[in-house]
Amino acid sequence: MPAPRKQPMRTCVACKTGADKRALVRFVRVASSLPADINSNDAALNPMADLSSVRLDRSGRMAGRGAYLCTQKGCFEKARKSKALERALRCPIPPADYDRLALEFLNLCATEHDSVGTVIHG
Ligand SMILES: [Zn+2]
Repeated sequence: MPAPRKQPMRTCVACKTGADKRALVRFVRVASSLPADINSNDAALNPMADLSSVRLDRSGRMAGRGAYLCTQKGCFEKARKSKALERALRCPIPPADYDRLALEFLNLCATEHDSVGTVIHG
């Protein structure tokens, strides 16, 4: 049978399960320097621009190094404990970032499974 080439496979960094890209949640490391406005001094004045940070990429199209997790709740914690996400993204992730990402991840999972009416309080 022909391989479905138009559906890129990605691997969950925690459980190593391969899945359709769209079935996984993408995390992306956002570069510290912004490609736009390199002639502007705004980046130097803004301390936030100096930090590289990890974001949850809902669109799957954000520029930067990406890593994927499947939508099992346990996989986020597994990736956190094993530092699999940090290794995949090649950057340290502070606890505050993990907490923020965990909330986004759980919210995303909750909305993905629309039959579940669970409300997650932050
Ligand atoms: Zn997984």
